[in-house]
Amino acid sequence: MARSPSALEMLKWLRAQQRAMTRLLGHFVRAESPSYDKGAVDRFGGMVATEWRRRGAKVTILRRRERGNLVRAEWGARGGSARAQVLVLGHLDTVYEMGTIGRMPFRLARGRAWGPGVFDMKGGLVIALFAADALAAAHHRPAKRVVFLWTSDEEIGSGASRTVVEHEARRSDAVLVLEPASGQDGRVKTARKGVGEFELIATGRAAHAGLNPQEGVNAIQELALQIARVSQWNQPRRGITVNAGVIEGGTRTNVIPARARAMIDVRARNARDMRALEHKFHALRPILPGAKIEVRGGFNRPPMERKASAALYTKARGVARELGIDLGEDFVGGGSDGNFTAALGVPTLDGLGAVGEGAHSPSENIVLRALPERAALLAALLSVL
Ligand SMILES: [Zn+2]
Repeated sequence: MARSPSALEMLKWLRAQQRAMTRLLGHFVRAESPSYDKGAVDRFGGMVATEWRRRGAKVTILRRRERGNLVRAEWGARGGSARAQVLVLGHLDTVYEMGTIGRMPFRLARGRAWGPGVFDMKGGLVIALFAADALAAAHHRPAKRVVFLWTSDEEIGSGASRTVVEHEARRSDAVLVLEPASGQDGRVKTARKGVGEFELIATGRAAHAGLNPQEGVNAIQELALQIARVSQWNQPRRGITVNAGVIEGGTRTNVIPARARAMIDVRARNARDMRALEHKFHALRPILPGAKIEVRGGFNRPPMERKASAALYTKARGVARELGIDLGEDFVGGGSDGNFTAALGVPTLDGLGAVGEGAHSPSENIVLRALPERAALLAALLSVL
């Protein structure tokens, strides 16, 4: 077996590439790619595909009708025909509407880069490309085939990407996710909550609020009582959260409303709590006489439990130590495509992307110095998997 390249040598090589990394990051951030804008996501995906082709990867564009296309870049294993595979995951889309770049231009200051999607997760896409460069410069090919899969709708639930993510994960021995790191010290994410969304629709009966109120059934009141009920299911210390984030209903103040609906965000730390919550939601029954209640939805991302990450984290920690980095870990409430792969039982390590802060906000930024470090970490990890 070929000796793994030294992580420190790769870091040294990558440090000399920091300006090139920053330049590519600028191109990527300026190519805006809001999840709902297929044309824009496809244009940006085209740029990413070009970069991978330039590096000799076998690139496939997985076409989608409504959402952006996915980009799959395959890097052959050492010796050519290894069956074993490692999956590196990320997404092309951002949460920012087209034109955000006008108010939030890509800019550099105080050792950081700002811009829409710079942290979540165009920085991660740059890290992957330069990790491949560092391995190539070290004349090293990982022992396993590496598939870099860039999805197009992670920020809106991955409806158009999930089956591909799961298909590639099932063929893989490990999944590395380039979502943003946690904290300014770049902790990886070894557990994530599962995330779901329920819709509660209350139906009552309309009536005049003054003339015949006794004939009406107030759907808003029914909904309010239901929200009070489900809010009691919050157990923050156990990692269960239930949040009614949107409500609507009614027409005029003098009409007893016949319809009201609420959208509720739910999160849970483990699969058992997830299933119990789903069961409780679907078992909801009307409270007011004559009212009806309909429940739709469920969890769309199962929890990523730590047991799926533990062994990979230990490996990553060892590699990081060679780079002089004490790699911490974190448990977070937000979901990613790593939730899908971990739930299949495939070892998954998340948060290997850029170091920064302010994801999904006007102050989103990353630490430039950390770009070569994260690329070295990914390259070194790929070389030992
Ligand atoms: Zn992301």
